[in-house]
Amino acid sequence: MAIKPKKSLGQNFLKDRNIILKIAALANPDLPVIEIGPGTGALTEELLKKFPGLKAIEIDSRAIEVLKEKFPYGEYPDFEIIHSDILKTDISAIYKKDFQVMGNIPYYISSQIFFQLYDATGYLKQAVLMIQKDLAKRLIAPVGRKDYGILTIAMALKGKCTIEFDVSPHCFYPQPKVTSSVIKMVFNPVVNDSDFKSIMRIVRIAFSQRRKVLGNCLKPIINALPDGKEEFIGRLNKVGMDAEKTLRQRAEQLTIDEYILLNKCLNQNIIDNSSR
Ligand code: SAM
Repeated sequence: MAIKPKKSLGQNFLKDRNIILKIAALANPDLPVIEIGPGTGALTEELLKKFPGLKAIEIDSRAIEVLKEKFPYGEYPDFEIIHSDILKTDISAIYKKDFQVMGNIPYYISSQIFFQLYDATGYLKQAVLMIQKDLAKRLIAPVGRKDYGILTIAMALKGKCTIEFDVSPHCFYPQPKVTSSVIKMVFNPVVNDSDFKSIMRIVRIAFSQRRKVLGNCLKPIINALPDGKEEFIGRLNKVGMDAEKTLRQRAEQLTIDEYILLNKCLNQNIIDNSSR
């Protein structure tokens, strides 16, 4: 019941039982689970012991055949395998109530999966994911560091991420080239969906030219304000930010709270409302 791993699908199957048990132990016992990329069922098997109503989303039809054989309907009537591309699946529509996500996710689309999870944080409360260690570090990087960026800020706006433990390449078949980490994301958004989108638009522009100061990166948006730079400086001062200093800083020097304020300054309605 083995399949030839496909590199193009990011297939590195877990073979270390101890690691599988440690990942499964991080599940929140009170929330139903969606597993992303069950593959041939290494983690699935453990999850099914605690969550018989598990739903698993897998793209590879060969893996699905293995899963059906391994977990037959007669023994696992509540287990549902969803044959689909995770990036095209509306995960919030699956349970239509609070849930969590678990998975040793395909590395080639990890960042895209993060943003898909962030879109689902109405119902999605927690995610336990195996990802590349370097990517995990970017999710929790301190301000000012090289790996502080778009991923760090998006994560902080949506909740808290912790690195639970690292996993050596030896624990997989085939072995990946790099060390992996198991992370836990607990979602508790600090801004609403519309602010999240507008803050991330600014963050993306700011980080698109990391070496430029913010005054230059944001020039097109600042110039689009009714009185351009002058108005922008006035708004920044109004929310307690040092305007001159901010314009001279680079994207990685601004804290998450400062990006939230920057977004407010670029959105007149919010400024008006908050000053009432
Ligand atoms: N969970 C298994 C394990 O730990 O042994 C497999 C993990 S493997 C790193 C990633 C899995 O995600 C593979 O089974 C792969 O086929 C699946 N996958 C890749 N791209 C996918 C996509 N776009 N949507 C859903 N599943 C995908």
